[in-house]
Amino acid sequence: MTQLIKARQGIITPEVQQLAAVEGLTPEELSQRVAQGRVVILKNKGRQGMAPVAVGEKLRTKVNASIGTSSDCVDFEDELKKLRVAGNAGADTIMDLSTGGDIDGFRKQVLHSTTLPVGSVPIYQAAMESIAKRGSIVDMTAEDMFEVIERHAADGVDFMAIHVALNQSVLERLKIQGRVTDIVSRGGAFLTGWMLHNDRENPLYAQFDRVLEIARKYDVTLSIGDAIRPGCIADSLDRAQVQGLVVVGEMVQRALDAGVQVMVEGPGHVPADQVAATILLQKQLCHRVPFFVLGTLVTDIAPGYDHITAAIGGTLAAMSGADFICYVTPAEHLRLPTAEDVHAGVIAARIATHAADLVKGVQGAWEWDLAMAKARKALDWEKQIELAIDPGTAQRIRGERNAAGAEACSMCGNYCAMKVVGEYLGKPKENC
Ligand code: SF4
Repeated sequence: MTQLIKARQGIITPEVQQLAAVEGLTPEELSQRVAQGRVVILKNKGRQGMAPVAVGEKLRTKVNASIGTSSDCVDFEDELKKLRVAGNAGADTIMDLSTGGDIDGFRKQVLHSTTLPVGSVPIYQAAMESIAKRGSIVDMTAEDMFEVIERHAADGVDFMAIHVALNQSVLERLKIQGRVTDIVSRGGAFLTGWMLHNDRENPLYAQFDRVLEIARKYDVTLSIGDAIRPGCIADSLDRAQVQGLVVVGEMVQRALDAGVQVMVEGPGHVPADQVAATILLQKQLCHRVPFFVLGTLVTDIAPGYDHITAAIGGTLAAMSGADFICYVTPAEHLRLPTAEDVHAGVIAARIATHAADLVKGVQGAWEWDLAMAKARKALDWEKQIELAIDPGTAQRIRGERNAAGAEACSMCGNYCAMKVVGEYLGKPKENC
């Protein structure tokens, strides 16, 4: 039985018990949200020794970090380093998006090397194997796709991006719409090529029941991939995207009916004034299941700084109801990220989600900021470093251009406002 089916039967699972305490809810409150499909618990039934994570309504907004090889860069040691860096920087989940080298071997290593929930995109591997076995992606068979999905589930993958909502009607709408960047989802692009070349329906859409069967067997959470998500600001909220979302909503309904945990992936590139509408549409059309957004990026013109672009959009999205944010690194649109890029991306996404959690009333968010404000007022540098979202960076910068043992910092030196006013108004009270 999946967590969803158990919650509907009124069973409080050990995972719900444990995660309710983490999120500051009663087990009954969390279980009710799981039963409604508004919260998912990321944990494959067969995966041992991992820490499940709850994603969804009114919970702390979670951050995903994606790692993985590409066909051009296959360096497992470097990818495992990124896995460690992402975990140390505070990522809640990891996605292995590998498309190069021994994909099965690396996925197993990832699952073994982290306690975080692990996600994957099986169509990537199915496509790579089809090239190796049959010479091209368009010669991939439906069996190839379902076999890889089951392989990932059996290995212990906790959530999977599956492009089940891309069908011929959506492609037709895309052609009529005429987009600037057509399709930017990698899985969506593979399937689009396959569907157009073979003039057939997407097997993942046509045989969705087979996907549901696998997901239910292993309690893998489906992340319905937004194959048609806009790839630039100009394409945001066009008719193709909305048509895709209507189909996503229908697939979500079928997953919920089958007792399968499900969330929805979203954009992508969205101008700031369309972020709230994008989230509202998804929530309305998709039964308020958790929304996992890729960014969102609020402008197209900042390569090298897209972690910042995404953090702006991530805060807006999470404030509007997005539950899960996929990080974006400074390398986005430019190259495969390095470990340093991964660190910068996770921290930027955590700042974005925390800024939203502050106004979403998430337990502990407000208190964290208050503690930092008090430490600043008290010129308590040790405490400030301890409370910093990235203590290592804060410590390093504090150590530069400041005299050893200086009470204030070199920004204002002797004219430190905190010090001067503190002398007149006294030190802040400890527990106010
Ligand atoms: S010197 Fe200026 S910047 Fe530094 S702690 Fe004091 S008020 Fe803040």
